[in-house]
Amino acid sequence: MATRRKPDDTTHQAPPRALPESATVVVAGGGPVGCACAALLARAGIDVAVLEASNSAGYDPRALAVAWSSRQTLADLGAWEGLPATPMHHVHVSEAGRPGSATLDASTAGLPALGYTVRYGDLAGALRAAVAASLYTGARVTGIDVPAAADAPAVVSVETADGPRRIEAQLLVVADGQGDWPGIRRHAREYPHQALLIDLRFEHATEGWAWERFTPEGPMAILPRLTPDGVSHTLVWSVPPQRAEALMALDDAALAGVIRAAVGPRLGRVLAIEARAVRRTTLAVARPRTGPRLAMIGNAAQTLHPIAGQGFNLGLRDAAALAARLADTPHGEIGSPAMLAAFERGRRSDQWGGVAYTDGLLRVASLGSGPVRLLRGLGLAALEVLPGARRALLARSVFGLHL
Ligand SMILES: Cc1cc2nc3c(=O)[nH]c(=O)nc-3n(C[C@H](O)[C@H](O)[C@H](O)COP(=O)(O)OP(=O)(O)OC[C@H]3O[C@@H](n4cnc5c(N)ncnc54)[C@H](O)[C@@H]3O)c2cc1C
Repeated sequence: MATRRKPDDTTHQAPPRALPESATVVVAGGGPVGCACAALLARAGIDVAVLEASNSAGYDPRALAVAWSSRQTLADLGAWEGLPATPMHHVHVSEAGRPGSATLDASTAGLPALGYTVRYGDLAGALRAAVAASLYTGARVTGIDVPAAADAPAVVSVETADGPRRIEAQLLVVADGQGDWPGIRRHAREYPHQALLIDLRFEHATEGWAWERFTPEGPMAILPRLTPDGVSHTLVWSVPPQRAEALMALDDAALAGVIRAAVGPRLGRVLAIEARAVRRTTLAVARPRTGPRLAMIGNAAQTLHPIAGQGFNLGLRDAAALAARLADTPHGEIGSPAMLAAFERGRRSDQWGGVAYTDGLLRVASLGSGPVRLLRGLGLAALEVLPGARRALLARSVFGLHL
């Protein structure tokens, strides 16, 4: 069977070194999830090559909430030490115009931190460094040919600055962030909200605190970032597209006023808007996430709305689960239908949990009036007094801090 991706017009610079002719596992995509998977495979002694289309990790405005459990995986890979990361010890959840609020504390969970804020670019750079010996940049995967013979390796097609190349592999792991592969059914729908990403400084910033706030226009998450000048924040606000456009058109002073009104008095005035960007938001799920000699992980397998901070954390668990399964699979069985079916089954409940949690949070957060809003307020009040409920929310907390 042959599958091909649509070519695109990305221009490449020369790859730094020649691609190998074969590898047990080829990973398409050297983003955080692809690199983490490859680093785990290399550590298990599996021969792996990561092919990354771009030549360098460019600037990306994302600040990711990284769960404690993800930190452990990153530390095991040697990608945590030296990574600029801001701890979150408390998450305050509140609703604009309502008295109910709740605070989630790391001490309740018996952890040093609920999670950490990390810049996407820093994380991607640290993971690329962790897998440097197996990483080939300027190499775009364009397709896979699977011979009819059950034990024959697949042939992966690659575009490089030096022309097309082919690599034999037992398994192609797709970690390209898009999952747009022929033969893979990807169910996708765009949300009627966009994500505003704003780097800003508040008057009363306190180290270790993150904020989740339900506003009439949509939910917002405010993540702390330690900088040489003190505590800064990245705000992610889910709003309808016309509102996102209108907010992006405001000057800094006017935008600061709107944010202050939405956030409420706890953080004080907005002292500076440092950067802003807007992103479309999508829910997409590959089902099944495997094909002949092919498995998808990370955003390729599921793309979630960023407000719940689940995407990277879930993708890292995909990477760890696939690496663990391959480490336990005899070499000749890597990429076999039985191995792929077991991986598919093993990831189903975590994948659907992430989708249901994120989508559910958005649905509840988008209901601006009536009984659901009342229940939301009561729920926050209950969380404040019921340790059991608080623990349950902590287990899959507002920023995807899957403990
Ligand atoms: C605004 C925003 C905020 C977010 N906040 C959080 C958060 O707080 N917590 C969280 O857990 N998640 C968050 N996410 C989600 C998180 O960013 C993603 O889940 C994560 O980046 C997925 O990583 P990935 O490696 O699967 O894909 P990507 O990061 O998209 O990387 C894919 C890589 O593949 C390369 N590539 C593409 N096509 C090819 C090809 N054909 N051949 C070779 N290489 C290719 C690309 O160049 C890229 O380097 C957020 C997302 C957004 C948009």
